[in-house]
Amino acid sequence: MGRPKIISGEIRLNEQMTSFFPAVADYFRDVYPAEACCIIAGREGETRLFKAPNISKNPTYFFEMDPRLFIEIEDLGFQVQMLAHSHPDGDCAPSRSDIEGWFFTDLNQKSRPIFPGVLFAIMSVHGVDVSAAVYGADAGHFVEINV
Ligand SMILES: [Zn+2]
Repeated sequence: MGRPKIISGEIRLNEQMTSFFPAVADYFRDVYPAEACCIIAGREGETRLFKAPNISKNPTYFFEMDPRLFIEIEDLGFQVQMLAHSHPDGDCAPSRSDIEGWFFTDLNQKSRPIFPGVLFAIMSVHGVDVSAAVYGADAGHFVEINV
């Protein structure tokens, strides 16, 4: 993976986040062929990786995070910066359920991100081969960020 590209606006991919990508990829390889998720969160002077167990009843095809993990992360004083999940035997493009899960339609019928400013990394996992793409959910659509 090359140098992260910093794009303008609120969405900023930084090297603290991408420094966790090898550990995230290792975790996703371990959980393969099931889908897996991690949260990268930061607080003053510290960025940390949290593995999020998949509580879906159908973990090969779907991902469901335990909402209590978000509360624990906040209780520790961390702010969620990135949600990363794997697409076992898939590509790095957001799936239909990703898009449905990451946006909601507000009272003015406008599509808005559920986690504003949070980045989404999708890692395609084919056995030991892993590739990644990072997206920012902005104004109702995804902006792809090269890694
Ligand atoms: Zn997905």
